[in-house]
Amino acid sequence: MIVEQIWTANSGRNFNYLVACPETGEALAIDPLDYQKCLDAAKAKGWTITQVLNTHHHRDHTGGNDQVIAATHAKLLAHSGAKDQIDGIDRGLKAGDVIKVGKTVELQCLDTPGHTMSHICVLSRTDRPALFCGDTLFNAGAGNCHNGGHPNELYNTFASQIAKLPDTTLVYPGHDYIANNLRFTLDREPDNARAKAMLPGMERQDPGHAHVTTLGEEKEINTFFRLNSPSVIRRLREAFPDVPENPDEKTVFLKLRELRNKW
Ligand SMILES: [Zn+2]
Ligand SMILES: [Zn+2]
Repeated sequence: MIVEQIWTANSGRNFNYLVACPETGEALAIDPLDYQKCLDAAKAKGWTITQVLNTHHHRDHTGGNDQVIAATHAKLLAHSGAKDQIDGIDRGLKAGDVIKVGKTVELQCLDTPGHTMSHICVLSRTDRPALFCGDTLFNAGAGNCHNGGHPNELYNTFASQIAKLPDTTLVYPGHDYIANNLRFTLDREPDNARAKAMLPGMERQDPGHAHVTTLGEEKEINTFFRLNSPSVIRRLREAFPDVPENPDEKTVFLKLRELRNKW
């Protein structure tokens, strides 16, 4: 499996992806908003885009579908529950479905509601798994729930699915928000040494050659995985005096999501 992360350099800081089979050169385009960059990248590599996957229906993820499909005749894949929101779905996806790309690549679908209620993440069946997580999980952050989502569902997705993946899993999100998210982590957990050490490098990084985190790293730097950290809880109780001394993880997650909305 070859992964090409494409930096769109737009105001939304979107990442698009090509996932290719090294044997056949067939490729899956994930959320190819910047269709020209995606088509150009495929051409430069000698790949053929045969499928397009939308992680969810937001326009900054679906906005390049028509152009990529017109140029390549690729099939469109998206959550089966998004058929009223995304035009022209050829294959509706549900949890456990497998997307094959060429001869060698298999991606397993996870049904991951929260950012929207019909959001798909895909996990590669490779020795080292890679997770393409759209707007569910970001580097050092979590998706918002303002446009058709719900924070309870987002918590459930994190707790019951994302957090259970292997720590070695590579994380490929739909946007580059890492520097701002690390600042939020440090606002919530000022003694997070790993986040503090990472921030200057991430503020300087070229998103065209972005650092790819692992899930193990996320568990250290992403406040939405730091739900039992004593300093996260202490700071949270300063903001919300009604939070108990030993809050459950869901309460901490929901309060962090609420603070991040205003941060
Ligand atoms: Zn979105
Ligand atoms: Zn987005």
